[in-house]
Amino acid sequence: GLANRLQDTFNRLRGKGKLSESDVTEAMREVRLALLEADVNFKVVKDFVAKVKERAVGQEVLQSLTPGQHVIKIVNEELTALMGGEQSKLAVSAKAPTVYMMVGLQGAGKTTHTAKLARLLHKDRKKPLLVACDIYRPAAIKQLQVLGEQLDVPVFSLGNEVSPVEIARQAMEHAKSHGHDYVLIDTAGRLHIDEALMDELKQIKATVQPHEILLVVDAMTGQDAVNVAESFNSQLDVTGAILTKLDGDTRGGAALSIRAVTGTPIKYAGIGEKIDAIEPFHPDRMASRILGMGDVLTLIEKAQATIDKDKALDLERKMRNADFTLEDFLDQLQQVKQLGPLDQIMGMLPGMNKMKGMQNVNVDDKQIGRVEAIIRSMTPGERTEPSVINSSRRKRIAAGSGTSVQEVNRLLKQFEDMQKMMKQFSGMAKKMKGKKGKG
Ligand code: GDP
Ligand code: MG
Repeated sequence: GLANRLQDTFNRLRGKGKLSESDVTEAMREVRLALLEADVNFKVVKDFVAKVKERAVGQEVLQSLTPGQHVIKIVNEELTALMGGEQSKLAVSAKAPTVYMMVGLQGAGKTTHTAKLARLLHKDRKKPLLVACDIYRPAAIKQLQVLGEQLDVPVFSLGNEVSPVEIARQAMEHAKSHGHDYVLIDTAGRLHIDEALMDELKQIKATVQPHEILLVVDAMTGQDAVNVAESFNSQLDVTGAILTKLDGDTRGGAALSIRAVTGTPIKYAGIGEKIDAIEPFHPDRMASRILGMGDVLTLIEKAQATIDKDKALDLERKMRNADFTLEDFLDQLQQVKQLGPLDQIMGMLPGMNKMKGMQNVNVDDKQIGRVEAIIRSMTPGERTEPSVINSSRRKRIAAGSGTSVQEVNRLLKQFEDMQKMMKQFSGMAKKMKGKKGKG
């Protein structure tokens, strides 16, 4: 499997300080084959490999990571980025009803996922209306009706004698007059893309003006999924995809390809036949699935934790500095913003979490911007010697930073506490050093 291959390759890289071009080239040859095996589109693989190579070659391997771990980290990050990075949410219209139109090939899971989405909305106390626009497939209307009954969500249908475009039009009127805030339109699919189907879908689109056109794609179809996505997207300007049947043993290469080729974000994943088998699509989880999961993911997580620890140790060294000023504090804030929540970072510093007065140092991440503004409104003299900041200066600083005197006071108090804590800490560290020296 891919995981084993990666391990083999990366073990060969072990013990090197810098990733050389030939190291990375060799590793990427394996990655390339493995991705193709996971059914990722060849062009996507080519671009991906080039991108990772460019990033990896010459990179200094972080002290605590093996070169192998470092490459895995880059591969994982790039895979996640390729699939959109962040989780992508469904659009909601400011003016009700919000309309979602489901499209896709026959058997992809449109009807099932129309119902799954309706269930999520219903649970969220919304009033969705399901619309049966597949008049071709025998029993398609019945299928939606059964699902609707199960969910206690109404289904709008005019049988199979009225055209889907007309059904959609009347459904919109019905939704408005009955106070539905969401309209979910289930459409027909074909085994292959054809002109007539696309024309019909375009007309429905023009009639209902959906806020999302969701392409439902079967993850098991691998490479084909990309062609399907491309044609639907070129004709209908799809706004999102739902990748279904991920409960199967597919590697999920389709996910990578769809996003990379069409730019369409995958918004949900179908993970079973049951009505609740749906979850928001997480690019990072999919990346580890494509990579072969298991140890690889654990490795990366461990590596990640180590990196943060390295940074925290660096921070600790700086904080031990005797003349730590508000200027330094400002510097630290910039770093902390990249590190993550301040309380977590403090927690990583040895001994810090047990320190008294810790609870007073609660610089909330959202407040960091205001704290920055306050410090920036101080003169250099005030930053190095905060004791000179009297009440008239406090007023001036508050006005200059667009904050209040109370906030300035709070910051100065926090800084004072922090200084005390640091003195305590540095005293403790010196004591410990002294003990070591004697023993
Ligand atoms: P449509 O033709 O696009 O409307 O597809 P359907 O919603 O009728 O689904 C076709 C088949 O796929 C049905 O048997 C569904 O139960 C099944 N199905 C849909 N989504 C999933 C999924 O996420 N996982 C699994 N295992 N089966 C699914
Ligand atoms: Mg259907």
